[in-house]
Amino acid sequence: MTHKGQVEELQAQALAEIEKAGSAADLEQLRVQYLGRKGRLTQILRSLKNLPPEVRREVGQQANAAKEALEAALSQALTTLKEEALRAAAAREIDVTLPGRRRALGHIHPLTRIMNEICDIFQRLGFEAVEGPEVELDWYNFEALNIPPDHPARDMQDTFYFNDKVLLRTHTSPMQIRVMEKRRPPVRIIAPGKVYRRDSDMTHSPMFHQVEGLLVDRGVTFADLKGVLTEFVQQLYGPEVSLRFRPSYFPFTEPSAEIDIACVICRGLGCRVCSATGWLEVLGAGMVHPNVFEAVGYDPEEYTGFAFGLGVERFAMLKYGIDDIRLFFENDLRFLKQF
Ligand SMILES: [Zn+2]
Repeated sequence: MTHKGQVEELQAQALAEIEKAGSAADLEQLRVQYLGRKGRLTQILRSLKNLPPEVRREVGQQANAAKEALEAALSQALTTLKEEALRAAAAREIDVTLPGRRRALGHIHPLTRIMNEICDIFQRLGFEAVEGPEVELDWYNFEALNIPPDHPARDMQDTFYFNDKVLLRTHTSPMQIRVMEKRRPPVRIIAPGKVYRRDSDMTHSPMFHQVEGLLVDRGVTFADLKGVLTEFVQQLYGPEVSLRFRPSYFPFTEPSAEIDIACVICRGLGCRVCSATGWLEVLGAGMVHPNVFEAVGYDPEEYTGFAFGLGVERFAMLKYGIDDIRLFFENDLRFLKQF
């Protein structure tokens, strides 16, 4: 290859590499490689003195031109890189005058809210809230509550069993037994919590919430039961809401009652929610059965008491006018955000 061809090729190669360089460090490396003291172009310039004079002049001019071209290209490439870096920095910079992005605040689930409201009312009436296991022994869930193995009341509650003795509690009533086993009267507790039954449709969920209540002392009567529950319902739904007590049956209370309130939707006139009766069943209650006292070692001749239970979902559905219980458990924010 001629000297002239060598310079041309070197220049083309250097220009191509400068074009591809991605950083100032790359450009510096290229400068050293071609124009440094031991650089490739520098060596060509140094070797000119060995050439015949007629070639030396021509190649010398060409090599000098190449040197200038490379220096210009390096300088231009460096400027371009700096400008790009500045533009990128500007794009990253925070514009403090932009409006802030609002962070969505979480809030309390409607069931938790009504549960808290119910517990608050009873706590103001002097009841202490206690909690207990959801995986329960047959003894606490049934037997100690006057529901022996072959009792027909077991069919009323479709139970999830782990084995003969262990199950998911079907109600919060086992807490009555657990508390009375450990304490002597007076006992005044509520037990809020989750319960489980094999049941699922628009008004039943396999997991739902109850609040249990128990008051035991000397001389407690049905009038106390009536007074406490009337006070509770009126604090929750307002003083104008009327109640009615209907005779009913539960194995662990005698006598037993179901408590209805005048329909909060139609105010007693009759509507779809109350099946045109004007009444809504909201509570089950009764005087503690003597067999239950005997199971925990209380003397039924000395003590009397009352117990009640309510479904939290039912209260929430009535309070918020919701007709499908499953909405509470689907975690659909469009639903939950309404509360
Ligand atoms: Zn109604």
